[in-house]
Amino acid sequence: MKEALVCGAGGFIGSHLVKKLKKEGYWVRGVDLKKPEFSETEADEFMLLDLREPENCERAVLSRRQKPFEEVYQLAADMGGMGYIDSAECDIMRNSALINIHMIHSSANAGVKGYFFSSSACVYRDMQADEDELSEEDAYPAFPDNEYGWEKLYAERMAMAYARRYDIKVRIARFQNCYGPEGTWRGGREKAPAALCRKIAEAENGGEVEVWGDGTAVRAYTYIDDLAEGIFLLMHSDLENGVNIGRQEYVTVDELVQTIAEVAEKDVKIKHVKGPVGVMARYFKKDRIRSLGWESEFSLKDGIKRTYPWIKEQVAKYG
Ligand code: NAD
Repeated sequence: MKEALVCGAGGFIGSHLVKKLKKEGYWVRGVDLKKPEFSETEADEFMLLDLREPENCERAVLSRRQKPFEEVYQLAADMGGMGYIDSAECDIMRNSALINIHMIHSSANAGVKGYFFSSSACVYRDMQADEDELSEEDAYPAFPDNEYGWEKLYAERMAMAYARRYDIKVRIARFQNCYGPEGTWRGGREKAPAALCRKIAEAENGGEVEVWGDGTAVRAYTYIDDLAEGIFLLMHSDLENGVNIGRQEYVTVDELVQTIAEVAEKDVKIKHVKGPVGVMARYFKKDRIRSLGWESEFSLKDGIKRTYPWIKEQVAKYG
């Protein structure tokens, strides 16, 4: 039986990745500061560890038989939506860098064979609406829009340096905005799709919904099952360096609101308010991940149809 370690297994993508690995027949250890908030973990073993501490990383990467894991998936990060990225830049740069520095070092040193790192589309520069799509090499010359992106670039480079110097295979995905059930939906770390689903669930039919910025920023949103599939394919591929993973359905923030309102069967009026928006637009080529046979299967509307009811239920229970 193959064994895998998932760091950040108490978080949104990590907890879904654990489910995917279990379906693929793996024995899985999850590690995080906290257990998943919204359902029981499916990991065979769950360790509560602070991965900023080197000795915890050293413990995590050795399996129950004290052998290095064949596969390590590093998704632990100090992370949130634009509001959090904008306000907590020191925490993000310190905490995530410490985790990434110690995790790749401990993994390479212990003899881990495969190491996956979750990078982000935030490594790219700002773009204007209707620009041509960027490919992975266009991350350089580097000019990320926020410190979260700079930390990701540093962590990518660090992992690639270890891949050159140690016998460890490193795979790096640059995720676009990902959403789905069991993701953070309130509290300040939620991302745009979850925040807007919550606001629409809370709104009266015909009511008003506040949207940060002027609603024209362009993004593509990827449903969690598509992302988990992409991570698994990439980890078992020969693709080195950063690989974009995301759906190629570009929408403005106002169009995202409209899609959610349609699924919710509510009429809502958009009220644009001041708030951190991030870059104006993001357009990325997906040729590399597609070369592995990956395609995003969930349209934005299909993904929202699976996400909105879950958030509506959370709002009804706890809102
Ligand atoms: P998340 O916040 O839900 O999960 C991250 C997990 O890391 C959390 O459970 C958190 O408790 C854990 N963590 C934080 N500090 C830790 C520490 N010191 N020790 C152990 N665990 C710690 O975020 P997510 O959306 O699941 O993101 C997972 C990864 O994907 C992150 O690296 C993130 O930067 C990247 N990413 C996510 C998106 C997205 O749209 N969600 C987009 C681009 C990149």
